[in-house]
Amino acid sequence: MKLLLTLSIPVVAAIPFTVVGGDDVKGSTRPNRYGQPGPPGLMVVSDFEGASVADVSIDQVARSVSFMPGGNPARGWPCWWYFRIDGVSPGETITLKLRGSTATVGKQKPLAASWATPKQATWSVDGETWRHTDDGQRQAEWMIYSLKPDATSIFVAWGPPYTPGTAANFMRAIGEASPHAEATELCRSREGRSVPMLHVSEGDRTAEQRFGVWVQARQHAWESGSSWVAQGFAEWIVSDDPDAAWLRQHAEIFIVPVMDVDNTASGNGGKNSLPHDHNRDWSSNPHWNEVQAAQRMVSNLIDEGRMDVFLDLHNPAPGDPSFFYILPQEMLKEPMISLRNRFIDLAYARISRIKPLIPMSNKPKVTGAGYHPLWRQISSNWVCMNGNPHTVSLCLETIWNYRNSTTEGYRAVGANLAAAVREYLAEQPARE
Ligand SMILES: [Zn+2]
Repeated sequence: MKLLLTLSIPVVAAIPFTVVGGDDVKGSTRPNRYGQPGPPGLMVVSDFEGASVADVSIDQVARSVSFMPGGNPARGWPCWWYFRIDGVSPGETITLKLRGSTATVGKQKPLAASWATPKQATWSVDGETWRHTDDGQRQAEWMIYSLKPDATSIFVAWGPPYTPGTAANFMRAIGEASPHAEATELCRSREGRSVPMLHVSEGDRTAEQRFGVWVQARQHAWESGSSWVAQGFAEWIVSDDPDAAWLRQHAEIFIVPVMDVDNTASGNGGKNSLPHDHNRDWSSNPHWNEVQAAQRMVSNLIDEGRMDVFLDLHNPAPGDPSFFYILPQEMLKEPMISLRNRFIDLAYARISRIKPLIPMSNKPKVTGAGYHPLWRQISSNWVCMNGNPHTVSLCLETIWNYRNSTTEGYRAVGANLAAAVREYLAEQPARE
């Protein structure tokens, strides 16, 4: 987290700032303030990139923190939470009491709590290595997690956080380490933030002689796992694996690990934000800068006849395994259908064999007219309908509510997805 605090990215929007607890909290037991023996006061801090928490109440005697996710529902589903607890005595047990957000837009009901209450919470001492708690226990509307850190300060979150700062730092590091990767910028967001993008290609082939591969994540800001999948994809692409070298030499690869940087940075959920979210914005006149910029670059690849593989990365509903979303077959023509099915087979064969297990369904779900009124403006659908006859365009949902939905598990999905892209493209006619 040190890295994140020294970011040079300008912050032009107000970041929710919360410090609750410590010596300032009313009605709490603060033994140390009066010089008596006892643990220091717990304090909740959320003044950093990506943080989100609301309705905090701290029981200094029980050493528990009650809270719900923060976030403005007009800026997406309020299911994401992430904050720091200071004043921990190393070795003591800290209890987190989480309930679903009660915030609403207009007359809508609050979001179902299941989106915000993973089986296991995620926590970290240094903001870099993330681990799960044991399974939480349900008590009425509460989900209760306990953890026993050997530290004075801990980060706790819905899942492993991945902010625009994480993306910028990762890309800078990978750009410095690999001569074939360049850390660049897709665009600036509506709130003025940089949208980091990685561009990878190796060797002398011209752009026209290369397959086009586009990978993006976090059109829904709360789905942090999808950014870790994108990172795993990028890590594999620049690795020493001979297959990765083949892909770098035969393709031009673009990776955007965080599309909705504004909602990700400000701890908002993003999904169903107003006027509509990033993944309902792929129209002829996109509202969001990131979608405009991505659509322009993808359109260039289409114009050049080389929009070969487009992958949009997400996390699904709480009870879902990993799976692909596709357009119904009757809406597509050959060779798109066979090529897509071949890619799904190759990706499934790899991802479903990851150890430890990442459960995946080999049955894709359909995002056609019956799925959402704005189904034509879903990115992977837009790319199918506007792409080349051979374009493979898919949305991959990666399971999040599972014991192996960790940074390692997500990155393994990304690495295996990248290896599937290599295997698939090696079967296709070379570009001259
Ligand atoms: Zn999503």
